[in-house]
Amino acid sequence: MSRDELKVVVTRRLPDEILARIREAASVQLWDSDDPIPYDTLVEWIANCDGLYCLLTERIDAGLLDVGSKLKVISQMAVGYDNIDIAACTTKRIPVGNTPGVLDETTADLALALMLASARRIVEGADFVKAGKWGAWRPMEMVGRDLYGSTVGIIGLGRIGKAVARRLNGFGCKLLYFQRSSDPKDVEFGASYVDLPTLLRESDFVTLHCPLNAETRGLIDKAALRQMKPTAILINTARGPIVDQEALYWALTDGVIAGAGLDVTTPEPLPKDHPLLSLANVVVVPHIGSATIATRMRMATLAVENLLAGIYGERLPFCVNPEVYES
Ligand code: NAP
Repeated sequence: MSRDELKVVVTRRLPDEILARIREAASVQLWDSDDPIPYDTLVEWIANCDGLYCLLTERIDAGLLDVGSKLKVISQMAVGYDNIDIAACTTKRIPVGNTPGVLDETTADLALALMLASARRIVEGADFVKAGKWGAWRPMEMVGRDLYGSTVGIIGLGRIGKAVARRLNGFGCKLLYFQRSSDPKDVEFGASYVDLPTLLRESDFVTLHCPLNAETRGLIDKAALRQMKPTAILINTARGPIVDQEALYWALTDGVIAGAGLDVTTPEPLPKDHPLLSLANVVVVPHIGSATIATRMRMATLAVENLLAGIYGERLPFCVNPEVYES
């Protein structure tokens, strides 16, 4: 098929060089905005379209796929894909691409930044200075907790979880991990496998690196938080709904746990007047886990490669539902 015959929808403004690569291959209908495309507009645009380049803010459900009956590929510029009905895509034999591997180190850096920011009260301290409250050196002012030498529980020792573990080995931490694997290794990347209650009970920091799925939605609920140490800090750079946020607010205000560092929340964006933002023991950043120039360009490039492979009828380099290729 010629370039003019292939149609692609791109759901967000992208760097020029990324768009240029897509435009070389297909005619592009671009949602030229930094805000998400409305669902109804996407439904309207998806008809007669061969490929979709989307972000995690788009809801890709069975209704949308029914309209997009010509779709040959959905390429998402993210590693997570909980916004896409993968089962429906597979039924319709539409391959879905994601961008694994290129954002592990960058996201792990942010997890460490949130651990340190929460434990060492970095944001609180910076606000304190800006407010002109910095007085004489006082022995117990702005005291926090040590990351070095602490016990860190990693939920999901996958690509990002391992990158976090490698960093924490350098901090002399004792590492525990939990995931579903039926045959987990006793020790991997310096982390010992334990069951979830043990991880929650023994960790000074609990850091989430599992995907959002049916089992992990609400995994960190009241009961889980109750099992954590009152001195513990929860870090979430995975997905907001893995944590029951009302329970988290309760735990942070009732002294059930000591603090939290969140890159992801429910909803996103978190409204300015959300109760969590009134707490001094919470650091919230706006879903910037993969947000470095180099990493975002690598993600965008990988998503283009998936998209182009899909519209040309080739196997996607990174496909989350490879079953579509089985005959
Ligand atoms: P990955 O390599 O697939 O690792 C996911 C890990 O989670 C695996 O070890 C998996 O092990 C475990 N897991 C899956 N289901 C689980 C469950 N029910 N309970 C406990 N553990 C479970 O994924 P990744 O590339 O490291 O990415 C992880 C997640 O991070 C993504 O899905 C995405 O949502 C999020 N993320 C966020 C950002 C950000 O900007 N904040 C950036 C990148 C990624 P088992 O299968 O053995 O359970």
